[in-house]
Amino acid sequence: MNDIVGFVMQQPLSMRVWLLVTTLIALTVSGCSTTTQKGAVGIEREQMLLVSQNQMTDGAQKAYAEVLKEAKKEDQLNTDAQRVKQLRAIAERLIPHTKIYRQDAPDWQWEVNYIDKDQLNAWCMPGGKIAFYSGIIDTLNLTEDEIAAIMGHEMAHALREHGRERASQAMLGQVGLAALQILGGVEGAALDASNMVVQTTFILPNSRTHETEADRMGVELAARAGFDPYGAVRVWEKMLKLSKEAPPEFLSTHPAHKTRIQDLKKYAQRVMPLYQQAHSNLKSNP
Ligand SMILES: [Zn+2]
Repeated sequence: MNDIVGFVMQQPLSMRVWLLVTTLIALTVSGCSTTTQKGAVGIEREQMLLVSQNQMTDGAQKAYAEVLKEAKKEDQLNTDAQRVKQLRAIAERLIPHTKIYRQDAPDWQWEVNYIDKDQLNAWCMPGGKIAFYSGIIDTLNLTEDEIAAIMGHEMAHALREHGRERASQAMLGQVGLAALQILGGVEGAALDASNMVVQTTFILPNSRTHETEADRMGVELAARAGFDPYGAVRVWEKMLKLSKEAPPEFLSTHPAHKTRIQDLKKYAQRVMPLYQQAHSNLKSNP
């Protein structure tokens, strides 16, 4: 981006304004597409994607390695072999069904690690780098179906590339900022992909739209893999109960628990035939 800024800086002012306007329009128009197929739950929304998928997955590699290194240093990485085994087995059942949403996903470099830390947290970075914290499993006393529900939800964020979308929004903001800087004659700042992944995984909350999409896709992934799709409903009922007892900080960013539970019930009902199908397949083919 500094190159563009430099080039634009050499132009006369009227030319700079014209270049900026056309660049913004080009970015916005060319950046609109969708990352996934609709699935049985009907996900369709145009996404603005200005940052490349590779930039995000490269950034995620670095950020994930950092998290693992830190956890290892603190003696918190994969400390419970039984749990690691269980988490990876659940992932292995879910991953093949990601092809419903995108053909390339089953071949991603998926990875699942367990971090022994009292945090109500689980996430999946771009490209399929997953972490589950002991805090969420213990505090909510999660069953296998419920773990699968959360994992499906987190995988959906990665499949749908919500992080990339949010990084793109941030980038558009930076282009806007660079525009002001160009007009004012100041240099713009460069983007750091690893930092963007950290920002979108840990700092910026997901939008309601992203959460709803991940909820619906997660329910379908779980059902197709033979996990009870109502597991997601039970997770949020537990969250609701927990928030009444002692509202944790993180729940304040998710105000509409009840609406969410309603939506999850509706979609769990919709994918029930997929679950029954998968379940009978599992029975005849254990
Ligand atoms: Zn989410």
